[in-house]
Amino acid sequence: NQAMVIVGAGLAGATAAATLREEGYAGPVVLLGAEGQVPYLRPPLSKGFLAGKESEESLLPYPEQWFRENDVELLTSDAAVSIDPASHTVALAGGRSFRYGKLLLATGAVPRRLDIPGAEVEGVHYFRTKTDSQWLHSELAGGGKKLVLIGSGWIGMEIAATARELGNEVTLLGREDIPLSAAIGRDLGEVFLDRHLEAGVRFRLPSEAAEIRGDGAGRVTAVVTDTGETLPADLVVIAVGVLPQTALAESAGLTVTNGIQVDSALRTSAEDIFAAGDVANVLHPVTRRYTRSEHWANAIAGGKVAARSMLGQDAALDDIPYFYTDQFDLGMEYSGYGALTADADLVVRGSLESREFIAFWLLKERVVAGMNVNVWDVQEDIQELIRSERTVDRKALADPERALRSL
Ligand code: FAD
Repeated sequence: NQAMVIVGAGLAGATAAATLREEGYAGPVVLLGAEGQVPYLRPPLSKGFLAGKESEESLLPYPEQWFRENDVELLTSDAAVSIDPASHTVALAGGRSFRYGKLLLATGAVPRRLDIPGAEVEGVHYFRTKTDSQWLHSELAGGGKKLVLIGSGWIGMEIAATARELGNEVTLLGREDIPLSAAIGRDLGEVFLDRHLEAGVRFRLPSEAAEIRGDGAGRVTAVVTDTGETLPADLVVIAVGVLPQTALAESAGLTVTNGIQVDSALRTSAEDIFAAGDVANVLHPVTRRYTRSEHWANAIAGGKVAARSMLGQDAALDDIPYFYTDQFDLGMEYSGYGALTADADLVVRGSLESREFIAFWLLKERVVAGMNVNVWDVQEDIQELIRSERTVDRKALADPERALRSL
């Protein structure tokens, strides 16, 4: 039995290891990490875990002993440094190397760095790991700090909400005049913006950071905006998106296009090498577009599909993309093809003002995406509407009395 080697001990990698065992594979499985941590979940890092409401244990998708019990060789801090597709080997930083039968690249993504004066000063932080979240929690837990957040995407907005709930002064800089509008449109972005404003989060929109100032002794003191305003700061967190970690794949000669390019079965351009999770740019069988999804559900679904493909089974990543967020008392879930929503019409069931609604994106009278806010147990129905591609009546769609299944 040749080894199944997985590079990247994040959610996609861990799910793939577990799926290999669930599917009855009894040969060697090696899972390589670089963070010195057993695989953990990131979504709580900007929410409950940052707030101090969730334990470290609750972050684990598999209990620590699971890897031993299932004979998965987990090396948490010996990063892979090169791959040789011809000899089917992976070399590690510590000098070891593994021969693989099949190889999965699940190297995830890293925060995009900001190239402005002061961005590299000590005390300016990016946000991706458990360590980042623990550091920020220790700074914010007592309240009263001035936090400037650069970036008004999902992670920036979630950190803002948590920091504010902990009693800190929060100012958020974003490129869009309404946060999240590129992802969910202006009307829905406004729902989140209004909730933040109500809670006392301050915004500078649209605005970019031009410079970060420090005291020279490892403390930041201010962020200067592109309009020349100086915002005093005790803490600065930059959350301006992520970049897929493709260096290994590139140097091994794999096709890389906004991530490691893979087909629907998650096969890369090199034989016996697969990719899944945040790093993979996947050909979706429904939209026929390459899409790189940076979400939790995609890491799980991709880990499963990759493992089954590695075992030679017929598998395809055909899930409808799904993600969620929690900000203050707004709980949201979204399913759909974001790429198709640009030309779609919005139909709302419930009211945006009440903050309890389902929004549907309708293209040629078919639902291509749906998002529920503070309305629960509707995701299966939303996904069924999208998957069936059936035409629906707008009035019925907007009517809370009509069961979604009956449309
Ligand atoms: P990663 O989690 O990035 O894991 C990859 C791992 O590979 C890393 O540990 C890395 O160190 C390791 N690695 C990289 N290169 C090597 C190498 N050469 N050798 C060995 N190891 C290597 N998604 C949602 O759907 N909803 C949310 O609410 C949500 N909230 C989030 C909040 C935060 C703060 C963050 C950071 C992300 C959030 N996400 C959310 C996104 C979700 O967490 C990611 O999509 C998911 O973690 C991707 O999993 P992954 O395994 O592909 O990559």
